Amino acid sequence: MVPNPFDLGGRIALVTGSNRGIGRALALGLGKAGARVVVNGRGAAQTAAAAAELAELGIEARAAVFDVTDPGAAAREIDRIEAEMGPIDILVNNAGMQQRAPIETFPLAALRQVMETNLMSAFYVSQPVIRHMVPRARGAIVNVCSVMSELGRPTIVPYTASKGGLKMMTRGLAAELGPKGIRVNGIAPGYFRTELNEALVEDPEFSGWLTKRTPMGRWGDVEELAGAAVFLASDAASFVTGQILYVDGGMTSAV
Ligand code: NDP
Repeated sequence: MVPNPFDLGGRIALVTGSNRGIGRALALGLGKAGARVVVNGRGAAQTAAAAAELAELGIEARAAVFDVTDPGAAAREIDRIEAEMGPIDILVNNAGMQQRAPIETFPLAALRQVMETNLMSAFYVSQPVIRHMVPRARGAIVNVCSVMSELGRPTIVPYTASKGGLKMMTRGLAAELGPKGIRVNGIAPGYFRTELNEALVEDPEFSGWLTKRTPMGRWGDVEELAGAAVFLASDAASFVTGQILYVDGGMTSAV
């Protein structure tokens, strides 16, 4: 049989923030491609339920409840997954949050929380995973960036800064880890109807702007992100590293 380079057969994929929204869709997509999936989130019940839901679909899945902003907890869980399940081949740094306020009144505590959750966490989680990957000279990391890695928008300055930083963390890690056999890429979603965008989904003015601003003229469906993650995680992308794949209906390539 001719090998399928997109096949993730048996590889272990840890997807942070995968108990709902984009992360859940990525975990499902990786699972459909054959990966054994570790579902993460802070909410224990929701994370266990998301893992059970994948298992019902025939995907080998387990829950790992930890806060990605807690480096100690992340390292402990990652060591446990490696010991109990096997080598983590694929890490998707997806957990993220957003907070909106004009810069004049943006609370500093919220600034720190956004930077910790969206940017610092990718370092906290990647570091222990990379320590395991380096001796094996094998692994793929996918960071969930954003169109806001590239574009500015009012009232979300910390979010934009965090996602711009994550794009450059991706490139820095790719440069450092290329010689060690580990690839690091990003996917950059446009706009998707998740809890993170709850306020925007309800706002007809925003939806009007979005459909005009996006060449494909609509919101994305979270399932439309999975192919990009599967590709970047798989051997089909064996010579691809340091790249950001925009899945945004053309938003960042048009004015
Ligand atoms: P949701 O709010 O729907 O989901 C966020 C997920 O992250 C949840 O599973 C949540 O679980 C988890 N999470 C949040 N904080 C933490 C934490 N500290 N530790 C562990 N898990 C955490 O958001 P989306 O699915 O929309 O977003 C996913 C990613 O995609 C984010 O990085 C976001 O910035 C990015 N993105 C989203 C876009 C969109 O249009 N929706 C566009 C561009 C990028 P729990 O609450 O249980 O911890």
